[in-house]
Amino acid sequence: MDTVVAIDGPAGAGKSTVARLLAERMGYAYVNTGSLYRALALCAQRAGIDPGALSEEFLQKQKLEFKGADLYLNGSLLGDELRAPEVAAGASMVSKQKCVRDYLLPVQRGAAKNCWIVMEGRDIGTVIFPDAKYKFFVTATPEERARRRMKQAGEIPQGAGFERILADIKERDERDSTRAIAPLKPADDAQIIDTTGLSIDDVVGKIVALIQA
Ligand code: C5P
Repeated sequence: MDTVVAIDGPAGAGKSTVARLLAERMGYAYVNTGSLYRALALCAQRAGIDPGALSEEFLQKQKLEFKGADLYLNGSLLGDELRAPEVAAGASMVSKQKCVRDYLLPVQRGAAKNCWIVMEGRDIGTVIFPDAKYKFFVTATPEERARRRMKQAGEIPQGAGFERILADIKERDERDSTRAIAPLKPADDAQIIDTTGLSIDDVVGKIVALIQA
């Protein structure tokens, strides 16, 4: 895909901010695929079912669609409810399941039709668009990511300190990178961007330069 910029990487690496600003700067569309997994975790929570055991029948009843960067679940626009810590934890349980990944594949591919797009997630360069022209794996040390998370009110459990956030990040990394299907890992042809110690502007500038080179 000549029109896809794939940005993958672990939780808290600054991917979302970088991907959004990059899209703005280049005039491309932007899609955050983590919100799809979060939306299904929210669905499970609302239905009172285990996020780690979704059935195909349950999935077929949910309608997820992007309108631009906005995500709609069964006709309702989703927003801050997706950022809750329990929804983030549920999303990583949701994402281990094959039926979920099969269900979300066409939703993601469909979002990239006929336009330049920055798509952000864990497996965009490896599974969703293995032929993407530009692939970046944005990462940072777990400690740096925990420090950044601490600054994002609303994303962390109330009263949680640095050690707890760091442990959560490491646990999520472990779950995302060791799962059998579409594990978190850089594509062989991805450029690794280590953002430790860099500002968001530095990172966006670096990626823009690599795309334009
Ligand atoms: O990026 P975000 O933190 O919103 O993603 C939430 C969870 O969704 C991740 O921890 C991961 O388990 C899952 N995910 C995934 N594949 C993607 C995007 C997110 O498995 N492409």
